[in-house]
Amino acid sequence: MKKISFLFLFSVVLFACSGTSQKSSFQTQSALTTSADTIAPIKKSDDEWKSELSAETYWVMRERGTERPFTGKWLTNKKDGQYVCAACGYPLFSSEAKYDTECGWPSFYESLDKSHVKEIVDNSHGMHRIEIRCARCDGHLGHIFNDGPRPTGMRYCINSVSLDFVPAKKDSMDKK
Ligand code: FE
Repeated sequence: MKKISFLFLFSVVLFACSGTSQKSSFQTQSALTTSADTIAPIKKSDDEWKSELSAETYWVMRERGTERPFTGKWLTNKKDGQYVCAACGYPLFSSEAKYDTECGWPSFYESLDKSHVKEIVDNSHGMHRIEIRCARCDGHLGHIFNDGPRPTGMRYCINSVSLDFVPAKKDSMDKK
């Protein structure tokens, strides 16, 4: 009987440890998962962001909103160049990684540099997703999914209002 009691007690302790471990792992995943901490962050108050951004950009980038699908200005942009953060100008995506998708938002199979975007676990709205933010100003960009094309298989699904476009010099001359 003593042996059974000991085994029961051991199981309870093991289960308790296992639960603690899972919680700890989740907390780690919820934290930033890139090496973006080497970038000097831009921090501004809500009032400062409100005065600098349009109402829609503020809602998407600072309140994690989502623009309506198929309405974004960069959805069908085919020009060569760089997509930068609409709030702070940080380079985020290259036109070379942009591809046509039917999801309704500009999509890229990779970021310009992994350290330029933050990945954050987002369990809002009853879904498990990975949110993408600008690594410098913490502005919300969109989400990343694993249904993209080669070579990465990833889809960075980004709000147009979170991006500004800087045409490549050659492209801006050729297509004017
Ligand atoms: Fe930014």
